[in-house]
Amino acid sequence: MKIFTYSKDAATPTQAIEEATNKNDSAYIAGGTNLIDLMKDLVLTPAHLVDINGLKMTSVDKLDGGGVRIGALARNSDVANHQLIRENYPVLSRALLSGASPQLRNMATTGGNVLQRTRCSYFYDVASACNKRNPGSGCDAIDGYNRVHAVLGGSAKCIAVNPSDMNVALAALDANVLVSTGSGERKIRFVEFHKLPGNTPHIETMLDPYELITAIELPPAGFSKNWCYLKVRDRASYAFALVSAAVCLHMDGSKFKEARLALGGVGTKPWRVSEVEKMLVGKTADEKLFKSAAEMAMKSAKGYEHNKFKIEMGKRTIVRALKVAAAGVS
Ligand code: SF4
Repeated sequence: MKIFTYSKDAATPTQAIEEATNKNDSAYIAGGTNLIDLMKDLVLTPAHLVDINGLKMTSVDKLDGGGVRIGALARNSDVANHQLIRENYPVLSRALLSGASPQLRNMATTGGNVLQRTRCSYFYDVASACNKRNPGSGCDAIDGYNRVHAVLGGSAKCIAVNPSDMNVALAALDANVLVSTGSGERKIRFVEFHKLPGNTPHIETMLDPYELITAIELPPAGFSKNWCYLKVRDRASYAFALVSAAVCLHMDGSKFKEARLALGGVGTKPWRVSEVEKMLVGKTADEKLFKSAAEMAMKSAKGYEHNKFKIEMGKRTIVRALKVAAAGVS
């Protein structure tokens, strides 16, 4: 690990941003569950760490007029087990609990989870070519061992998957990201927060340098009756998704009144499938419709040598998730 300086003096987002901006080459640290690994492997080598754990951003609160605000420093375990989230946004609770391990969820924060980096092994191996880590160096994954890589949203420069489970649920719930700029706050729709890799895979989000996520806002609609988060992975716990699907529905009897579908494990960003959502509205839930939805959702998928299986697996996951969500909780 490269030598770095560290401070834990910041008490407000503005102070943290000021400190990060004034020092050369800074990074924020909260739970550290991703950053420390990246620093040990010399993938990231910040000269200064601004510890933001002293900022008062850990609470989960009801908003006036409906909805919930989740502080950026709220730990994944606390959010998943919070009564407001368990009862009103069960898809988020389930997605969080299907990620990582209990120990990691106890440390990992909401803001850090939004920003967690890909698990592409070439990204973590500094001897490999990787446009995300070292722009312009190439991508060893495209012709390499790409079993866990994306089949949706990739480019000739990068096919790395966004690894988060939480992000898939936040995309389906139409969350917003609240960001402190240092001189004010701005709000970014979650589905627009992560960028496609295109020619600049090293630019992953809408954040400007040293802007700080302060909270996630959930709209009032939590879809607590008709929902599903289905994750398919190599082993039953502590594994990233090969494919996952978050489905949130409003049903009118057996007809779709509103539908949300977001996918994980297959896209270079949390993958919302609006085209399918529109197609489902007004139709009656049945197996044939679920299969059409799955075909539509994966129609632009592009498989590589080792990950073509994700296309069929994605379709089957969508069919099952829609079926479970449409049946509803009793
Ligand atoms: Fe790097 Fe992206 Fe290629 Fe992986 S897929 S090696 S992260 S450029």
